[in-house]
Formats: sequence, structure tokens, C-alpha cells
Amino acid sequence: MCSIIGYYGNEIAAPILVKGLKRMEYRGYDSVGVATESENQIELKKGTGKVSEVNSKVQLDTLPGKVGIGHTRWATHGKVTDANAHPHPSNSGKIAIVHNGIIENFEELKSQLENEGYSFKSETDSEIIANLLQKNYEQTNDVKETILKTVSQIKGHYAFVAMFEDGQLAAARFHEPLIIGVGQDDFFLSSDVLGFIEYTDDAIYMENGTFVLLDKNKFQIFNFEGEHIGYGITKVSKEFGDAYKGDYAHFTLKEIYEQPETILKAGEKTFDAIENTADYIRHAKNIYITGSGTSYNSALIAKQILSKYVKIKAEPIMSSELQFNPETIEENSILIAISQSGESADVLEAIKIAKKANCKIIGIVNLLTSSLAREADVVIGLNCGPEIGVAATKSFTAQLVILYKIVQRLSNNEITINFDEFSESVSKTLDNPSNIKEIGKELKDISDIYILGRGINYPIATESALKLKELTYIHAEGIPGGELKHGPLALMDSNVFVIILNPNDSTYSDTLTSAREIKARGAKIIGVSDVKSDVYDYWIEIPKVSEVLYPISEIVPIQLLTYYAALEKNTDPDYPRNLAKSVTVK
Ligand code: GLU
Repeated sequence: MCSIIGYYGNEIAAPILVKGLKRMEYRGYDSVGVATESENQIELKKGTGKVSEVNSKVQLDTLPGKVGIGHTRWATHGKVTDANAHPHPSNSGKIAIVHNGIIENFEELKSQLENEGYSFKSETDSEIIANLLQKNYEQTNDVKETILKTVSQIKGHYAFVAMFEDGQLAAARFHEPLIIGVGQDDFFLSSDVLGFIEYTDDAIYMENGTFVLLDKNKFQIFNFEGEHIGYGITKVSKEFGDAYKGDYAHFTLKEIYEQPETILKAGEKTFDAIENTADYIRHAKNIYITGSGTSYNSALIAKQILSKYVKIKAEPIMSSELQFNPETIEENSILIAISQSGESADVLEAIKIAKKANCKIIGIVNLLTSSLAREADVVIGLNCGPEIGVAATKSFTAQLVILYKIVQRLSNNEITINFDEFSESVSKTLDNPSNIKEIGKELKDISDIYILGRGINYPIATESALKLKELTYIHAEGIPGGELKHGPLALMDSNVFVIILNPNDSTYSDTLTSAREIKARGAKIIGVSDVKSDVYDYWIEIPKVSEVLYPISEIVPIQLLTYYAALEKNTDPDYPRNLAKSVTVK
């Protein structure tokens, strides 16, 4: 959610900051701003909209100076307005800040500061950081003391960068990501390595509860007790810099098309981690699998394949719900936490609860430097490279491949999956998009769509509904096939489209019957199947594969269908409204 960035070096800061913000736009965005320091003066420009729109309106990248901070905002407190956009200056204008996260006690601090004569120009929680810093700096005249005092006063989740009028930068991290990029003659502060990867691949992942002071080409890191702490420099995989669309019109399309390759890479070189996971599963009292959004749909599939193929019971838990029911977690069990970013606040909260109950944590995650990866006892990497499109595509199929590999291991390799062959079949689906494109056009004006699947295909129905909501804003609902006649059948009429997930597996004939029942009520049917039927008004052919692989072979054409429908509806497939890629707030 949102991105913060800071630059201190020998180059003009503003264009570097704007470029970095553009690269991180996928994280969450409704407004953008930049502040720089030049000749002991802070200048600031900001506005609502995309980075490039605001930049052409107010020329963010023309601000002078070699030190600066920038921000893309995903509003949590206060509307999406120019005034609420970051950076926020302090009352004296001598300090400016950018902030990611939430300051929980901002109301209390705000009224205290107002009583002392400070005024506020925004409705955000963030602005109190600027004025609190000013007050503490005026009292201490020392940046380190100022930060220490400020972090002891604010409560919540935050990463912030503060710029002082003499050009010093300070940045603190508490439960929100913050990374230092160490260049030849310059330093970067950023929420994501994508903010600076173009300039350096040397990164320091700041620990939680630490802050950094940057001044005249040197930096020092301290914990919140003020103690100096050491750090390690990590070489960031250059692959993470590969976040360009190439010839594709959108990142989402590129990421859908990367799947034949990412399916093969998922869990690659993690044999030991998969072996250890299988071992933990064999000896655990209970197995819980948690995730949010798409990752929760993976958890639903995991439950089914574990019980079906290796007779192991596992309980999927929606991460955001666990805090209301923490007693679900029994002591000495294991929690498999699934996440693309590894920074999702709900997933991290679920881990906290499980750790309290002495559970071991298995992390299935794309970003191996994320908080989730660091919290987990065993980490399995999705290895699918940066996923920029907000709606998960390749990370979902990579998660499934890893779950299959775990089940394969648990079955002592009795289940055999030929991933090479499977990857080829996914390529074939992607090589022939014209039929799917045509069907996408049919969805242009519809307001409701239902997706029906049974057994292992049901979580794909919910995942398809999620994709349709995210990319096209069409109301979409996944329905377990057998539930149709217990209610949803009442919704069927000629205005409705239904996607029927009907591979030739054990659910085939029951689902075909459901399709006939729906057709009899006049709804239009899109059949996703390896077998053609006259009941389908439109047929999306999927390759014939082994039963366990049908979920992936179904979701890939649906991702594509959803993408083309989004183009028809004129929505932005990469950046759906109101959503952010990495949901670091609760
Ligand atoms: N809570 C702050 C705001 O609403 C920061 C949100 C963000 O992380 O973008 O401005």
C-alpha cells in the first residue's frame, strides 16, 4: 500500500524520485507528491491522480536539489484530495515527511499539538508526524533525539521518511516495509527495491523498530532504544528489476503470459524446504493454512488436495478473520501462510497469533526478503518474479504448483505430475486467445456473472469471481454447483451470464446437469471444459490434463477472459480502482 521514497546524493533528486514512484505505483495510489531540499529550503509539489498525470500537471520532476522525498498515497485517513496528498510539511516548513501506514493515536496527538498552537492543513493522520518532529527538534536540536522521542510518542504501523531543511534525511520503520538502497555516491530509501533497482542492487532491509539517519554520504542505523545497530547488505536479484511491460499492453497480460515459465520455476531449488514442510505436516497436531484474497483460494485448494491425495486434514483460515477467533489455533500445530508480497498485514497478524500458540510457520511467498519470509520457520519461494498487476495471476498458479509439490512429497512421490508437459498445455491455451477475446466482448454490458464449480473446481470459481470483480468491476460470485438449487437458481434469467467450470473429472456430469438447469432459466452459459457440449453458448476449451491440474488449466483462460473484458469495459487492468497490491494495513 502506498510507496515512500527518499534520495540523498549527487544527482538532482526529483526525476529519480518520480521514476521510482512510477515503478512502485502498483502498490497503491490515489495521489502523489515530491518534496526536495535546495539551499536550505524545502519545496513541495503534489496532487491527486497517477504519477504521470500529476507530473504533467505540476512538474514534480522539476523541483531543485539533490535531496528529496516522495510518496504515492493510498488514503486511509481523509479523502483523496490535493491537501491530503503527501509530503506534509511541518508548520515551520522546515521539516517535511512522507508516511506509509496508520498513526493510531493521531487524534490525541493532534489535539495536544493544536493546544500548543500548531495548525493542520490536511485530514490525514500522517501530518502529526511532521509537527511532532518540529516540536521535538525545536526542543532537542538533534535529529537522532528527535526521532527517538517521536517514535516513542506515536502508536500504530508506519514507515516514514523525514527531510530537514538542512538536507538531512531520517527514516523509521515499524511494521511497514523500508529498504535502504546503497549506491556508489548516493542513498535511497524506499518501500520496495523497485524504487531504486535501476541505480543499485545493494540493499539493506531495515529491521522492524529501527531508524536510519542519512547525512553527507554516510548513514547510521539505530534501534528505538537509540542503540547503534549493525546491518548486512543484500544483493537484490536483478530479476526484480525486470519490471517492464516489454511488448505487452499491460503488466497483467504479461504476467498471465509468463505462466508457462513460472509454473516450472515455482518452488525451484527448494527441495529441502519442501521436504521439511512435508516433515512438519506429518508430525503436526493440526495443520492450518492461511491467506487473503487469492492466497486464501489457494488455501482452499490445498485443503482439498491434502485430504484427497494423502488423507491429511487441514483447515483453511481467512487471515483477516483469525484475530476474531484466535482460539481456533491449537498449540503445537503448524500454520502454512501463503502470500505474494509477504507484507499483508492480515497474514502477518495470523502468524503472530499462531506463534503465540507455539506453532511452526511455513511461508509460501514470492518476496523472500519480506516480513513473512523472515517470520517463517521454513520458506518456500514462488520464484515468479515481480508481479506488478494488482490482481494476482502468476503468483496464484505458482502457489498451486508449490502446494502440489508438497502433496507429491507427502505421497512419497506416488502422485506424479509432469510439469513440463503441463506447462506446454498452458502455452497452448495462451497461444490461441481469439475465442476468449470474442467472449470477453460479450461481457461488456453485463452487471452480474456467476461462476459455478464443484469440488476442487469450487475455489477456482471463487478465484474467478475475485478476478472479475478486481479487473472489470462486474458483480461476480462463485457458487458451489450443488448449492445452485438451494438458492442461487432464483437469480437466473436472460440477463445473467454463468461460467461453468466443467473439466472431465469426477464432477463432470453433475455440473453438466447444473448447466442445463441454468440454461432452462434463460441464462447464457460459458463452458470451461475439455469436452464440448451443446449446453454451452460459448465454449472455452481447456487441455485434457490429470485431475489434480485442472484448477490451473481452468484459471489461466479465465484470467485472460477477465483481462479482455476489462479492456472492453475500459477499466485499467493493472491498477483497479481503490485496490493496492500489497495490503499492509488492516
Ligand atoms: N494514513 C496515511 C494517509 O491516509 C498514509 C496512507 C498510506 O499508507 O498511503 O494519508
